[in-house]
Amino acid sequence: MTTAFYTHDDCKRHEMGSWHPECPQRLQAIEDQLISSRISDYLDHRDAPAATEADLARVHSADAIYRIRENCPSERSEYDHFPLDSDTALNAYSWRASLRAAGAALAATDAVIDGEVENAFCSVRPPGHHATRKEAMGFCFFNNVAIAASHALEVRGLKRVAIVDFDVHHGNGTEDIFANDERVLMVGFFQHPFYPFSGTDKPARNMLNIPVAAHSYGDAIHTLVTKQWLPALRAFRPEMIFISAGFDAHREDDMAQLGLVEADYAWITRQIMDVAREFSQGRIVSCLEGGYNLSALGRSVVAHLKVLADLE
Ligand SMILES: [Zn+2]
Repeated sequence: MTTAFYTHDDCKRHEMGSWHPECPQRLQAIEDQLISSRISDYLDHRDAPAATEADLARVHSADAIYRIRENCPSERSEYDHFPLDSDTALNAYSWRASLRAAGAALAATDAVIDGEVENAFCSVRPPGHHATRKEAMGFCFFNNVAIAASHALEVRGLKRVAIVDFDVHHGNGTEDIFANDERVLMVGFFQHPFYPFSGTDKPARNMLNIPVAAHSYGDAIHTLVTKQWLPALRAFRPEMIFISAGFDAHREDDMAQLGLVEADYAWITRQIMDVAREFSQGRIVSCLEGGYNLSALGRSVVAHLKVLADLE
């Protein structure tokens, strides 16, 4: 069984200003590291198809979809931006990139459920886990993982899916979409207090997102994974696991102040793999979220993929 690697060139055409950390070079940094680490040949490379508006509408309001589709500047004004909030903006390619990012997660979900591959990584942007049902925010337009999880439940007929979010920020969008949905268990950790300043106020029973203090290191994360995530995941017995794979808790990433390194990402991935193989036929779809230090991002994705592809 193999690991699929989904991406699309449209995801490199969306950008929010030359100063912006959520930049096209992130995907290039990942691809460069795949080559230099020599794992590229072991992956099943696939082009992401475009999601349809019906796919988006499973988790987003018609208004939220309309706002992205209708506000992208025209392709003749390649350097124009339409601001959605202080750090999230559309350019001429943002709508197409968003459809490819969600489409990657959807195609990966189908490929994994159909048994074409054991698991898949979507190297896509814009990221998704801050996008709520009604609102784009925090560099995110549509919630790729939530769209794919919804597809697994509503189109493919799965009964229980888990979402693991190891991005340094709270996945407020995913929580907004799935709070109190008994078919979904979300586990995560996030630096607290920190953007988007949510996740601690009476979370729903199916939300196990654990706040951690700035300057926490891998040992704190290992403890919460072992003592909180894994027992909850095993009790839930997910039929499939989605990962919001943000790598901005890395020690070298200035976006936040946590101290993870590549080995921590490999270890977390191994724990998720073990649960997936025990309960979920190994089915994992992992989607890129944050990670802004280009070198640390590329190395961390390689560490994640080496475990997913059983190369380590
Ligand atoms: Zn993040």
